[in-house]
Amino acid sequence: MKAWEANIRKVVPYVPGDQPKGDHLIKLNTNENPYPPAPGVARALQELDYDRFRKYPDPAVTDLVHTLADYYGAGDDQVFVGVGSDDVIAMAFLTFFNSGKPILFPDVSYSFYKVWADLFRIPYETPMLDDEFHIRPEDYARENGGVIFPNPNAPTGCLLPLEAVENIIQHNQDVVVVVDEAYIDFGGTSALKLTEKYENLLVVQTFSKSRSMAGMRIGYAIGHRDLIRAMNDVKYSYNSYTMNLPSIVLGVEAVKDDGYFRETLDKIVKTRERAKVRLRELGFTFPDSMANFIFASHERVPAEKIFQALKEQQIYVRYFRQPRLDNYLRITIGTDEEMEELFAFLEQFLKQEEQESAQ
Ligand SMILES: *Cc1c(COP(=O)(O)O)cnc(C)c1O
Repeated sequence: MKAWEANIRKVVPYVPGDQPKGDHLIKLNTNENPYPPAPGVARALQELDYDRFRKYPDPAVTDLVHTLADYYGAGDDQVFVGVGSDDVIAMAFLTFFNSGKPILFPDVSYSFYKVWADLFRIPYETPMLDDEFHIRPEDYARENGGVIFPNPNAPTGCLLPLEAVENIIQHNQDVVVVVDEAYIDFGGTSALKLTEKYENLLVVQTFSKSRSMAGMRIGYAIGHRDLIRAMNDVKYSYNSYTMNLPSIVLGVEAVKDDGYFRETLDKIVKTRERAKVRLRELGFTFPDSMANFIFASHERVPAEKIFQALKEQQIYVRYFRQPRLDNYLRITIGTDEEMEELFAFLEQFLKQEEQESAQ
């Protein structure tokens, strides 16, 4: 071994979902939005003068920060914008989780948390979800170095009621509590208004799911100005120009068109509720989801087998080869047409499986 190899930072990276290429494929594996971004985004993109690319973008992301602050009724100094919520959450880990005490997040949760904790050498403990995949707030009432959880949780889709979220914050006022609301727009109640009451609460949201802009990489955090100032200090110590110009300009346009936003959300929620009925008819069980995906297990056919069969049909869903999760499929809610194709295939495939096992 060469001497320098001993000093390499060794990490086990997060594994993102596949981004398969092809014409006729149905992509229900990374919780993207099946509908395009707001029409104003397309217009602004066409009008964007490429000569502006010569210059650095605004390091403070002023326009987008202001637009978001306005939209959520917060002050500009209470909003932090980053390169997707992954960047925002990584900054929050680096900024707030430095006590040396273990931070807490659920055992079944967004698997990136563990990766950042390892990368930044932050100790952590992972309280177990209950048998129905629900977070137990009482597990977070012990000494710790900080708390983070997604709400609704991923990959389960389970929503923790706002009172339970507040209960966790109340028991943790000496540390920063981060609520990762990547899926909150699909039907949950945001903890945003609790940021007025609790200075230690940071709420993180993203443009990647509900705002149809995963490719632009925009995420944001809202919280007390002291939290936001601390995050900006860390950001400016790392990379001042995180947000590129098109993301800033187009992000503003996406927020402006609230009517379009509500319309697409409504469509996805309706499709999700119909999907719950259809999946039950097909013999699937799942925790009730308030996100844009359903985490489903079949009563007879193993998830991995269904996953493979779907993949051969160019229908991509997410499968986690992990204890406790390995008999589930995480199915993103697509358009009605995409979901119909999924159900039609499942119906025929499951029938065939049943006939074979009966023989
Ligand atoms: C998708 C997701 C994110 C990250 O989204 P970005 O694309 O980086 O904004 C963060 N947390 C959870 C729980 C997610 O599902």
